[in-house]
Order: sequence, then structure tokens, then C-alpha cells
Amino acid sequence: MKTVDDYNFKNERALIRADFNVPLDDQYTITDTNRIDATIPTIQKILNDGGAVILMSHLGRPKGERTEKYSLKHLVPFLSESLGCNVKFADDCIGEETKEKAQSLKPGEVLLLENLRFHKEETKGDEEFAKQLAELADVYVNDAFGTAHREHASTAVIARFFPGKKMFGYILGNEIKYIDKVMHDAKKPYTAILGGAKVSGKIEVINNLLDKVDNLLIGGGMMFTFIKALGGKVGNSLVENDLIDVAKKTMERAEMLGVKLFIPVDAIIADKFADDADKKTSDVKNIPDDWMGMDIGPETLKQYNEIIKDSKTLLWNGPMGVFEMASFAEGTQQIAKAVADATSKGAFSVIGGGDSVAAINKYHLGDKVSFVSTGGGAMLEFIEGKELPGIKAINE
Ligand code: AMP
Repeated sequence: MKTVDDYNFKNERALIRADFNVPLDDQYTITDTNRIDATIPTIQKILNDGGAVILMSHLGRPKGERTEKYSLKHLVPFLSESLGCNVKFADDCIGEETKEKAQSLKPGEVLLLENLRFHKEETKGDEEFAKQLAELADVYVNDAFGTAHREHASTAVIARFFPGKKMFGYILGNEIKYIDKVMHDAKKPYTAILGGAKVSGKIEVINNLLDKVDNLLIGGGMMFTFIKALGGKVGNSLVENDLIDVAKKTMERAEMLGVKLFIPVDAIIADKFADDADKKTSDVKNIPDDWMGMDIGPETLKQYNEIIKDSKTLLWNGPMGVFEMASFAEGTQQIAKAVADATSKGAFSVIGGGDSVAAINKYHLGDKVSFVSTGGGAMLEFIEGKELPGIKAINE
């Protein structure tokens, strides 16, 4: 794996595909700077070598239209402050003027390009558009994990124009290193914890993980499709009836492979989908009509805690319940704590998926696990065993 650490950027212009898709308020103030903060070390390494940096990113989904709301110029003040230099800006990511600005960059200087998605060619993976971007620089660095599963012009196609001069930035490099470790080099016992709303979004993940893990703990809305497949009564809980057979086959396959697949034994149920609903603990297979499962129950938590405690590798994706509502956050919070505790006793843990990351941060446990992945969809495709276009393009 080639990263920026393997290259000396002295007197070279590096084009970095960053993920600066940050939230902005009405005054165009960045409300969460995490994604930019995370990219600073990659930029700094290039500048310290004596190189110049050209930054490109998407912001929002402007679908090929120029809009003030999605202009990357709003990021210039924050970037300048973070880097301690005056970041220049190009009104377009391609074209003559942009090329001139890029060519006149001196070592130590930084140029930010306007939103890539102001051109519809970006998401189409247009080769000519990629070529025009490539003409701006000598070296290509991909540091955007969140879009690595997309074959866009700036994330994959562009790499063809930089044979021998393309590499990963620190963010992407770390994502590959840590997720690869849990996929190919995991110490046993290895436990995966999967939650979230639906089975449909996770079925390929489950199937790929069954070949690798010792234990698979199921939680979240998706548990009820499994419970129904086992003949349970799930009341009004979230169920995907068309996936009941798939759930049955998954359980059979787990048994065949000797993987312990755990389905919750109890649930916290509610009489409506609301934080102030009436709630109680119920046997998961006997949920009364008109009630719905919102979280895993105390018996399940006890069981899951024991397994997590004894694991040497942990992979967690998806909340255990409707954790956005305080009344149904206990399961997710306790699992987050259990994963953090196991990590402090030597387990290696990777957390991924927007909601589990939000949860682990909400409980201030982000620095108590081994690695928090930044890409939702990209991470899922990675653990499905797919080769991500953005990664393949660099490795080829
Ligand atoms: P996903 O995007 O598939 O990882 O799903 C995350 C969402 O699943 C969160 O917004 C949770 O509120 C939701 N969720 C978790 N458990 C349940 C449940 N028992 N019923 C309905 N939604 C749930």
C-alpha cells in the first residue's frame, strides 16, 4: 500500500481528493469540522516536504448545478486558519483560469478548487473531466474514504493519469489498514455486533462475516425479522417479511459454519414509536399486538456483555435500538461501553457506520476503541468483501 509517507513531495504539486462534505449553517459557518481536521496531517506532510497542495472535494448534492449553498469557498477561512497560511481559491475545478492558478503555485502554497459536483461529469466518472483535473498536478493523493466506494471522476477514474504517482493520504491509508485487519488478520475469539434498522442493508455484510467471525450478535430493528423467522410474535415491530427466508438461511449457514449467531432473548417494547411511549421489558418472541420492539432487553445485554468481554477482536456496525430516543438508548450505550471496556483489556475494536459512530461519540467513548471508521457506505461495502473503486484505482 503506497501512502504519502512513501513519497517526497519537494517541488511537486499534489492534487488531494479530500472529503470536505461538512455541514454548514445558514451563515455558512461549518458546524462540524471533523472531516477537515482529519485531512490536515496529509496536507501538512506535503507542505513540510516542500510541495504545493491542490484540494478538491464535493459538498452536498448540487447535481451539476452551481449553487451558493454548496460552494466550497465558504471553507476558505477555516482552512486558512487551520493551516496557518492564506488558502487560495479557484472558482471552478477545471478550465484555463484554474490551470493557471494551479501552475503558479509555489512550494508551501495551497489552492482549494470549487465543488467537483458543480459538474455532472464528476459523479458520472467522465474520463475527459478526470483528465482535466489531472492536468492540474504532478501527483494524485486520495484521502476521501467516504466516497471510495464510488467510481467518480475524482475518486477513481483520475488515478489512470498518474501511473506511479498516485497514493493514499493518512485517512484512507488508516481506514484500509484497520478494516483490513479485522477482515483478514483478526485474533480470535472474533465477535461482530450488527444492528441498525433493516436486514436488507446488511445481508451481504452478514454473509461475508459468517466466514470470519466466531460470534455474531444481532440487535436493532433487524432482529425482528430473525425472531419472526424463528416463529416468534413480534407485534408491530419493524419486520421485512420478504427477508424471512433469507434470515432462516442465514441462521442455517451460521450453524453449518459453527458460528454462534445470537438473536436477542428479550426486548424493550413500546406502545408507540415515541420517546414518551409506555414501555416495558418483554420476551422477544411474545410481543403483544400493538406493541413494538425498540431496544434489546436486560437479559440480552447480560449475554452480549459476556461475549464481548471475552473477545479479542470486535467489529460493531449499527445501533442496538432506537438510540436517538433516550428511553431506548440503553442497549446501544451499554454495548458501546462493553466494547470500550474490552478494548482497554487488550481487544482490538473497529466501529463503523454513521449511527454507531454517532453513538460512540455521544457517550464520549470514541478514543476508547481502537478505530472509528469515517465512511458509512464505504465501510459496509468494504466489510461485504467488495473491492472499492477508489482503493483499486490506486493499487492498480
Ligand atoms: P441503519 O442506518 O440501518 O444502521 O439504521 C440505523 C437506525 O436504525 C437508527 O436510526 C435507529 O433508530 C434504527 N433502529 C434501531 N433499532 C430499531 C428498532 N428496534 N426499530 C426501529 N428502528 C430501529
